[in-house]
Amino acid sequence: MPMLDEETKSYFWTLVDKQGVGECWNWNGKRMPLKNSKKPGYGTFSANGKTCVAHRYAYQALVGRIPDGLVLDHTCRNHGCVNPAHLEPVTNKENILRGTAPPAKNAAKTHCKHGHPLIGENIKRRVRVFGNSVTIERSCLACRKLRKSWEGDKGKLRKAAYYSNFVPHERVGHDK
Ligand SMILES: [Zn+2]
Ligand SMILES: [Zn+2]
Repeated sequence: MPMLDEETKSYFWTLVDKQGVGECWNWNGKRMPLKNSKKPGYGTFSANGKTCVAHRYAYQALVGRIPDGLVLDHTCRNHGCVNPAHLEPVTNKENILRGTAPPAKNAAKTHCKHGHPLIGENIKRRVRVFGNSVTIERSCLACRKLRKSWEGDKGKLRKAAYYSNFVPHERVGHDK
């Protein structure tokens, strides 16, 4: 994330039409054209002589770093939106389609502690708003199902069986 001085930071937010968490936050600054089209695409702004992508900046400012190797997908399909609640870090589409993407090395939290990939439909998202900042808690749906199946006496046996075969997912890279 580019280091922005306070003035640039507040200027950034003057260009955002901030709405409720569920709505699009439209960017009122410059937009780059979409590929193969003249329609406006992602919002941009310049800071310290560099061009920054508005939605990436907003996500990093309010949620946190984007894991290495992942791109932000607009779940609302509105390229001009910078609402972090509408942005989801995903591997590139090709990898999702093939379904054989190796876990991106050095990526933070691409997998839950049980090794389920934290992408696409396996993510349960909760949006939390504290004052001016929005955080998105991501949790693993597969794990939720596991925990449910471990309820009760029979569940305890299933849990024991699961852990007797369990090999923890190898954690690599960042210490974050
Ligand atoms: Zn949106
Ligand atoms: Zn999991």
